[in-house]
This record gives sequence, structure tokens and C-alpha cells, in this order.
Amino acid sequence: MKLVLIGIQGAGKSTQGNLLSKKLDIQYLSSGHIFREMAKEKTPLGRYIKETMNAGALISNEKTLEIIEEYLARPEYQKGYILDGFPRTVPQAEAFKNGLERVIYLKVSDKEALWRISGRVSDREDETLLAIRKRIELFHEFTEPVIEHYRSKGILEEVDGERDIQVIFNDILERLGIKA
Ligand code: AMP
Repeated sequence: MKLVLIGIQGAGKSTQGNLLSKKLDIQYLSSGHIFREMAKEKTPLGRYIKETMNAGALISNEKTLEIIEEYLARPEYQKGYILDGFPRTVPQAEAFKNGLERVIYLKVSDKEALWRISGRVSDREDETLLAIRKRIELFHEFTEPVIEHYRSKGILEEVDGERDIQVIFNDILERLGIKA
């Protein structure tokens, strides 16, 4: 199965992504995680990624697409994937083909997301309050149109993300036609 998870930071994408990955035996891939690893590299690309991430801004569509496509070409993704954090802009969604079947939108209010993020302990350099606010802003500006893009294609599942983890997980499974 080829899935994408969309939601603001704190919406529970990685929690649900990891649960789905175990249940379906399909690889979970987070673009944010890839970029955090690349940001450690002492190369011009590594430095560009680090600076961009720490400002809460977006990596260029071109670079992002190139990196994600390269990952998805690997053998472990041939039976499917659960993508978190990509596509995040309409140009990314339009350029990304790869047989995407379903998009799960985990809907959580900004207030709830901020509350959750502020409550978790993080050593991430890109989790300053300023960067988090910027990321939420960018979500509304660039990623909400991605949700509409997939809604119009008829592959969007909008899920209330402000419920118990297991309830949300069962809801997603039901929508995908998978027995809990
Ligand atoms: P995340 O962990 O998904 O919040 O991603 C952390 C950071 O990685 C974001 O703030 C962006 O700087 C970068 N990033 C992750 N995914 C993308 C993407 N699809 N397009 C552009 N930048 C991204």
C-alpha cells in the first residue's frame, strides 16, 4: 500500500505512521527525519538543509523531490510506503507520481498542536517556538492546498486527530479496509 500522512507538526503523523508500518509491514519514511540526518553533514547541502530547517522554512521543491524519489527507488520501498511530511506543497504533489493510493489527513487544531509540542521534551534544534510557529504558518499556506489537491482526486481521508491514539488508528484501518 502507498500512503501519505498529512497534518501539522504535533498532529500524530509519526505515531500513526509507525503503528501503520508495523500493522501493514510497510516501510515508514519521514522527510523531516531524512533532512535532520542530512543536516549533520558538513557539506554545502548539509549546511543549506540545517539553516533552512532551523528557520522552520521549507527545503526547495526540487531538492526535496530528488531526495524522496531516490529513497523510494530503494528495494525496501517496492511493496509500498507510508510517507510523512511529503508532499508538502502543490508543486511537490503534482510532480510526485509513484502510484500513491491514499492520503490520510490527521486534522488537529493549531492550539492543540502547540499544546502537544510544548509538552514534549525535545533536543531538536529546529523545535524553537519561532520555528514551530513558522512551520504551522507554512502548513496553512502551502500544505492545506495539497489537502485540497488530493481531495479533488478522491483519495483523501480526513481523520479527526484529536482523539485517543488507538481510536484514531482503528478509524484509519477501517477507512483503508483493513481489519483491526
Ligand atoms: P518535519 O519533521 O516534517 O516537521 O520536517 C522538518 C523540516 O524538514 C521542515 O521544517 C522543513 O524544513 C524540512 N522538510 C521536511 N519535509 C519537507 C518537504 N516535503 N518539503 C520541504 N521541506 C521539508
